[in-house]
Amino acid sequence: MTHATIERIETRLVDLPTIRPHKLSVATMYGQTLMLVKVYCSDGIVGIGEGTTIAGMAYGPESPEAMKLAIDAYFAPAMIGKDATQIQALMAHLGKLVKVNHFSKSALETALLDAHGKRLGVPVSELLGGRRRERLPVAWTLASGDTAKDIAEAEHMLDVRRHKVFKLKIGAKELKTDIKHVADIKKAVGERAAVRVDVNMAWSETQAAWAIPALADAGCDLVEQPVASAAALARLMRRFPVALMADEVLQGPDSAFEIAKNGGADVFAIKIEQSGGLFAAQRVAAIADAAGIELYGGTMLEGAFSTVASAHLFASFANLQWGTELFGPLLITEEILTTPLDYSDFELTVPNGPGLGIELDEAKVKRFTREGLMKVTR
Ligand SMILES: [Mg+2]
Repeated sequence: MTHATIERIETRLVDLPTIRPHKLSVATMYGQTLMLVKVYCSDGIVGIGEGTTIAGMAYGPESPEAMKLAIDAYFAPAMIGKDATQIQALMAHLGKLVKVNHFSKSALETALLDAHGKRLGVPVSELLGGRRRERLPVAWTLASGDTAKDIAEAEHMLDVRRHKVFKLKIGAKELKTDIKHVADIKKAVGERAAVRVDVNMAWSETQAAWAIPALADAGCDLVEQPVASAAALARLMRRFPVALMADEVLQGPDSAFEIAKNGGADVFAIKIEQSGGLFAAQRVAAIADAAGIELYGGTMLEGAFSTVASAHLFASFANLQWGTELFGPLLITEEILTTPLDYSDFELTVPNGPGLGIELDEAKVKRFTREGLMKVTR
């Protein structure tokens, strides 16, 4: 048995620009803020984790600022001096001290797993039972808000063989406008690519009931979180054959069990942060498998650390029928790793070095690190 205690925990906010405005039904993003956490251990090993949200608090109750504060004020004091190698026991202890705060817990658990993998000389995927695949298919989100621009972007992604599955963010416009947008893009890419939509809960049940068959006719093969309510999603499941995916309603194992029990989704978008960490996400996947629900590896538009942590987990899943959307680092203009991730031939290679298998470019990240907690806007 190895032994190491936690000596120090450091958090910081890193504000990075995105390659273009990213338009969702809930908000438009012009940049992304990563909350990075470093866990320093007594054996000299440092683990790094990440907490990232979609559009600040427009998507959910945790913000990068809140994560930093929760870790600095509550999690860190409870972790100092504790055994860094007993990760599940430590996370269970923290779960008793701090309710919910899934994103903060995921960031800390990622850092502990990164450290322990480095300590044992194995990738995080080995700590999760071992990988079943080395590479993961990665979808791209078309969200410029303009059909012609989205088609040009899709054509480019196909040309450079980076993505052949496109998720369209809809729900902010008139239903007919959105349906035409989807149909035009599917018509342009044809059989060369799959087209899916994410409504981010924007529709009422009656709007969804009108739109879902029209989307199926347009060639869309998956509809993600069309409505906010889990009950409405379950009713829509019984009305339409097109695959429906749960995302926002999936908040860890308890909600996964409820949705599965009610036959509430065809597919789960699993996210490590939304689930409350990698082990919690593993339990969500087990519930899905037991219920015959298919799996998709989701993203909170995370930077490299949470993206790679997710990749290690998704690589270990028994089933991953719908691939992943682990494209977060590609939406950011700045490379924060000393060696960039390998996105090629429509897939991401899961790093195979110890821990997460990636290294932070400290000099680069320093330039984008926020002073204090509050963002200064010009
Ligand atoms: Mg989603």
